[in-house]
Amino acid sequence: MKKIELLLPAGNLEKLKFALLYGADSVYIGGEKYSLRAQASNFTLSDIKEAVSFAHERGKKVYVTVNVIPREKEIKGVVEFLIQLEKLNIDGIIVSSPAILKLAKDNTNLHISISTQSSIINKDSVNLLHSLGYDRVVLGRELSISEIKYIKENTKAEIEVFIHGGMCSGFSGRCTMSNYMSNRDANRGGCAHSCRWIYDIYRSDEKINDYTFNIGSKDLNGVNFIKDLYDIGIDSLKVEGRMKSLHYVATIAYTYRMLLDDIESGNMRDISFYQNLLESSENRDHYSGFLSGKTDNKLTLYSKTSPEANQSFLGIVLKYDKEKSIATVEVRNHFIEGEVMEVMSPNKELFNVKALKLYKDKERVKDARHALEILEIEVDRDLKINDILRRK
Ligand code: SF4
Repeated sequence: MKKIELLLPAGNLEKLKFALLYGADSVYIGGEKYSLRAQASNFTLSDIKEAVSFAHERGKKVYVTVNVIPREKEIKGVVEFLIQLEKLNIDGIIVSSPAILKLAKDNTNLHISISTQSSIINKDSVNLLHSLGYDRVVLGRELSISEIKYIKENTKAEIEVFIHGGMCSGFSGRCTMSNYMSNRDANRGGCAHSCRWIYDIYRSDEKINDYTFNIGSKDLNGVNFIKDLYDIGIDSLKVEGRMKSLHYVATIAYTYRMLLDDIESGNMRDISFYQNLLESSENRDHYSGFLSGKTDNKLTLYSKTSPEANQSFLGIVLKYDKEKSIATVEVRNHFIEGEVMEVMSPNKELFNVKALKLYKDKERVKDARHALEILEIEVDRDLKINDILRRK
């Protein structure tokens, strides 16, 4: 059976490296231009070059989103950008506009995926798009598992399915709420998440809601359906979130990698194990999206006023001196001498380590106080560069 691809988002080079190290088979990124995540897309051409060489050295892939809906005056620039991307040896582009399909076909041999923004939710659309030259279709998020199965059984196109991350309350991003409320264009990467703001409802001058009201959706968490997607033979499983933190990206990659490897080896654990791991990366409410085939207000609407801050990310190991058992750590949240921490390390099961002694600039200290400060920590188990330390 063809190996299923785990595709993670990356907002910058550091996150890209952690996504790949922690188990993603591929990543998608945005260039500085022509991508929808304007604020998240800070990959210059030289960053893309570095990203591609880091990924290819490890047998992994980099896709670049070029999913802007271009105006006439942008066409020339898009062509130049596509040619530059091909020269950088990227593995494919993700597009939304048929114009970019045509420009890419006329000027490059790039692998082309059509973005979820195009709301493809039936086999006829998939097959038409495939016949036009799209290699892969990223399905709309508004599909149940049985609908996805039917589409996959009736097409030769590669199929990509979203399994984790934010959902839009508009139909796959077809929304002008952010433009209206904040003059920030969601279809140009500037979404202000206006659907998640807190609103009051008035009848004439009378406020009629006595509860917290927003129209934002809970996030998608498809962990219960990964085995089904694997059995159906989906080509790629995609995670949303180029704006998310390094800890989030690493934890999601690590968990889904473990789940896919466990499925492949026939040793899948209780689903709560993977669910708990995923939840340790973020506190936002989640649900199975449309995968279960059931959606209603209770399942879908986000009800918290704001997620509590997640303090489980304690630090990253920058260096490790095996002889002295001393790890040099970049701190992310407060911890104390003597604390037992959980270690997330690529290709390993989780394990615990005790922070026996802490040093800052060679002086003994009792706790880690400031985010991004560098501490040396004497530990009771060997660590490795890029290990992530978490609160137990
Ligand atoms: S405001 Fe909400 S529904 Fe609209 S594009 Fe942004 S996230 Fe999607």
